[in-house]
Amino acid sequence: MKPSVFNVRVPMPSGEVFLMNTLTDAQIVASNEVVRLLDSLEARGAGGPADADERGALDTLVEHGFVVANADAERAALESRFVEFREDGSQLRVTVLTTLQCNFACDYCYQGDHAEHGRPAEKMSLDTAGRVAAWIVGRMDEVRPGRLVLTFFGGEPLLNVPALMLIADECARHAASRGVTQLVNVITNGLLLTPGFVDRLLPLGLNGVKVTLDGDRETHDRMRPLRGGQGTFDRIIENVRRVAGKVPVSIGGNFDVATAERYPALLDFLREQDFAGRVSNVAFKPIIKPSNPQAAPPPRFIDGKPLIPLTSVDAGRQPLNGSCMSAAGASTGSVCDSCHFADDQMSFLREETRRRGFRTADGVHMGPCELYRRHSHTIGPDGSLYACPGFTGDNALSVGHISGRRDTVQADAAGRFERLAPWRQCGDCSFIPVCGGGCAVAAHTELGDMDAPSCHKRSFESALVSLAEEAVGDPSGRIQ
Ligand code: SF4
Ligand code: SF4
Repeated sequence: MKPSVFNVRVPMPSGEVFLMNTLTDAQIVASNEVVRLLDSLEARGAGGPADADERGALDTLVEHGFVVANADAERAALESRFVEFREDGSQLRVTVLTTLQCNFACDYCYQGDHAEHGRPAEKMSLDTAGRVAAWIVGRMDEVRPGRLVLTFFGGEPLLNVPALMLIADECARHAASRGVTQLVNVITNGLLLTPGFVDRLLPLGLNGVKVTLDGDRETHDRMRPLRGGQGTFDRIIENVRRVAGKVPVSIGGNFDVATAERYPALLDFLREQDFAGRVSNVAFKPIIKPSNPQAAPPPRFIDGKPLIPLTSVDAGRQPLNGSCMSAAGASTGSVCDSCHFADDQMSFLREETRRRGFRTADGVHMGPCELYRRHSHTIGPDGSLYACPGFTGDNALSVGHISGRRDTVQADAAGRFERLAPWRQCGDCSFIPVCGGGCAVAAHTELGDMDAPSCHKRSFESALVSLAEEAVGDPSGRIQ
């Protein structure tokens, strides 16, 4: 017997120790005697527990996975966990980008049809939307899930409502006839969000709307203006107010070294709003740093602090024409909230969010992400298939097409994603079950190598301290 490599611990001021096993998700507050027992296991070899108390404690540790038979068995359990996650057919998840067009000119975004690139972004035709719906119905018949989760994203998805409605409507009809529950999520910049739109989608399974705000009014209006430069904050807030009684609204945002400190002001503002109790979740993510700083546009400054541009651009400073990075990145009902940690700011924002009574991700249970689900797909405006929203528009990383055709580049990319297992490079890291080696988009963008782990261990460690502090407030789960 030996202690699990997936044990993590936080010493508490009381002298006790918070113990968590990231593979079984067991969490206990243990006395020092129990921790000493755990630490002495390997040293004592075949020697069993000294007395009945020790035997009882050891049985509890084994039951919750803190003590395992041997390293090989534990590694095998980890691999089966990932296989189970990959093959899970209980739900079919499809993210559809009905357009890459956007009515915003976000300071950090160099994608879509921004004028400086002089070319129009793609918009899904109704013909393609019909074929997308047919493809999804085909997948429903193959997978036979209990649930179909459709997420609409962009660009700005509300710039192509006809395609969105056609897909949601067709899928809802076929899901209902197969006894499948359809859930619909929309990730929007909020500018065109109306009660009428929400009313149309509610009978089709609308489950939540995620709206992006990048800070308080001043910061948001500077970061996410309209193309003409006008601010958008007040209009978005009014739109959220008008729909919040009808559907759960979550708030997502992007931060940078210059803007993270403005988030508390946004949180205070949200807390004061009459719809605060209807905000289902608040999630933030840092703006991505480029892998090649030479390829990035010249640095910009806000209040004398450098702005890190979100540079989904290639080495020639051409846009990768990808999805709106204001929300890309999986989990907790959004397209993705688990990628691109900026360790210290993430824990600061998490604490500030919680202090104001809003729900947010705990920062420990972050992965593996949607990329590793076989039955999770992202579809671009032209019907191209991608492994996740963060790779949308990068033709070299498309994995196929809804038509069923797959060229050699796509076949190569599909094979690469199939083999992707960055956690195998993470040795005995205790966070592998809840991290899976991090975000492949972040690794691709920041490191230029999607196969490499994108490691934000410090973020996990600081989130673990918060989780421990909460657990200590709960007297259940103590073993002496
Ligand atoms: S690879 Fe990154 S962006 Fe893609 S689903 Fe995973 S965490 Fe999200
Ligand atoms: S990426 Fe880092 S935190 Fe994640 S499993 Fe690997 S070593 Fe651990």
